[in-house]
Amino acid sequence: MTDRPVVARFCPSPTGNPHVGMARTALFSWAFARHHGGTFVFRIEDTDAERDSEESYDLLLDVMHWLGLDWDEGPEVGGPHGPYRQSERMEIYADVAQQLLDAGFAYKAYDSAEELETRRNAARAAGKSSGYDGLHRTLTDEQITAYEAEGRQPVIRFKMPDKDYTFTDLVRGEITFGSDNVQDYVIVRANGQPLYTLTNPTDDALMGITHVLRGEDLLSSTPRQIAMYEAFAEIGIGGGFTPDFGHLPYVTGAGNKKLSKRDPESNLLGYREQGFLPEGLLNYLALLGWSISDDNDIFSMAEMVEAFEIGRVNPNPARFDIKKCEAINGSHVRLLAEDDVRDRLVPYFQTAGLISDPPTEQQLGNLAAATPLVHERMTLLTEAVDMLRFLFVSDDDFAIDEADRVKNLDEQGIVVVRAARDALVDIPDWTTPAIEDTLRAGLIDGLELKPRLAFGPVRVAVTGSRISPPLFESLQLLGREKTIARLDAVLDESGLGAGGGVG
Ligand code: GLU
Repeated sequence: MTDRPVVARFCPSPTGNPHVGMARTALFSWAFARHHGGTFVFRIEDTDAERDSEESYDLLLDVMHWLGLDWDEGPEVGGPHGPYRQSERMEIYADVAQQLLDAGFAYKAYDSAEELETRRNAARAAGKSSGYDGLHRTLTDEQITAYEAEGRQPVIRFKMPDKDYTFTDLVRGEITFGSDNVQDYVIVRANGQPLYTLTNPTDDALMGITHVLRGEDLLSSTPRQIAMYEAFAEIGIGGGFTPDFGHLPYVTGAGNKKLSKRDPESNLLGYREQGFLPEGLLNYLALLGWSISDDNDIFSMAEMVEAFEIGRVNPNPARFDIKKCEAINGSHVRLLAEDDVRDRLVPYFQTAGLISDPPTEQQLGNLAAATPLVHERMTLLTEAVDMLRFLFVSDDDFAIDEADRVKNLDEQGIVVVRAARDALVDIPDWTTPAIEDTLRAGLIDGLELKPRLAFGPVRVAVTGSRISPPLFESLQLLGREKTIARLDAVLDESGLGAGGGVG
């Protein structure tokens, strides 16, 4: 175990959309570094030109900023061990590979794909391990010259020492890999491209990483990396120590299958689009394998940092439960101050085309006035857009939900709308209490209706939907003119316009 100042890292590959499992790994590593007052390194592992993309890289940075997981070394901020994109570190890997070759920790292997295949099949048939058999470990100079003369391009393989590897995983406790489990593995392809097997431990060593926290899927690469650290220590690459490893549990989805990048619920950006708060999402992600206490699920990142202990991470797979994630988000929405909610709603109203970019003073004022109506009622910020659309939508774009119209604006509903219109049209003060008193008197007392039957039609006529914020406040915010116009429009369509009908 290392007792140096903590240096933890997050080192994703920029392929596809950032996903939930990745964010959980970033969060745990970040919380660990922050808890110990250490350094958090953000490194981009982009050595696979075919799979990596610039777009993905930009999204990764975007999402890390959105989540508020800040880093001390990495893209944008630099640091003493840069560059922090592996694609810019190719000379370093070539140099390290050469040093491993020179010191006898690695060797060139000239096997053709067919030769490997044949030997693998034979090993399988004989019931033996089908990994690399080490044949080219001990080539003679003549054999090498002959292969080179044939024009074969060698890969570089790391020479796994013939011994067991035991280490104490920070999450799982002691783990042993038997010597026959791990074969000599490729670190540089025949075309010269270094692989993850080389670049990842090289950078962890050169960047002084003391604690490697990462997904369980990488557990099997750990003995190989420990062996490489031991080689590095002998040839003087890095700080001469092996980091501690902690392998975080899988995140599973439906059917308890590991959540894959392709599952829609794993798309991290989707959560921002749906109106999750970074606080809410992070709080939920923290619960995928960790808990702050038995009786509290809701906490801030400052509280998590304070309490985070890697030894308390549960090694069992953690199930991603979207309902719970939403509920936790709702709690965080309710914890926000009113004007904070207002500010955070702005981009969602802009995306919906309901507020301009930049917003006008009047739009901001309207939103500030409307926010209290929805603050306690939403779990996702986008729900506010749906609930408040009626206040911001242009007259031309205002529409009534068809199903709600059928249910609420039938013959009886129209009678209600007519009565509401007539009662409201000249009340002296357009205030919430006056509107409420007027509608109660006109509809409940006047028409002798139950509140649901009295207010439902008015709600649907004015807000376009059965689901909306409190009615009287909504009418007050919408204003007399628009309220009456919308009631009239419903009456006109029904043939019972302002001038006629059952007044
Ligand atoms: N680039 C690797 C990945 O995204 C990082 C693995 C590690 O943390 O060691 O899977």
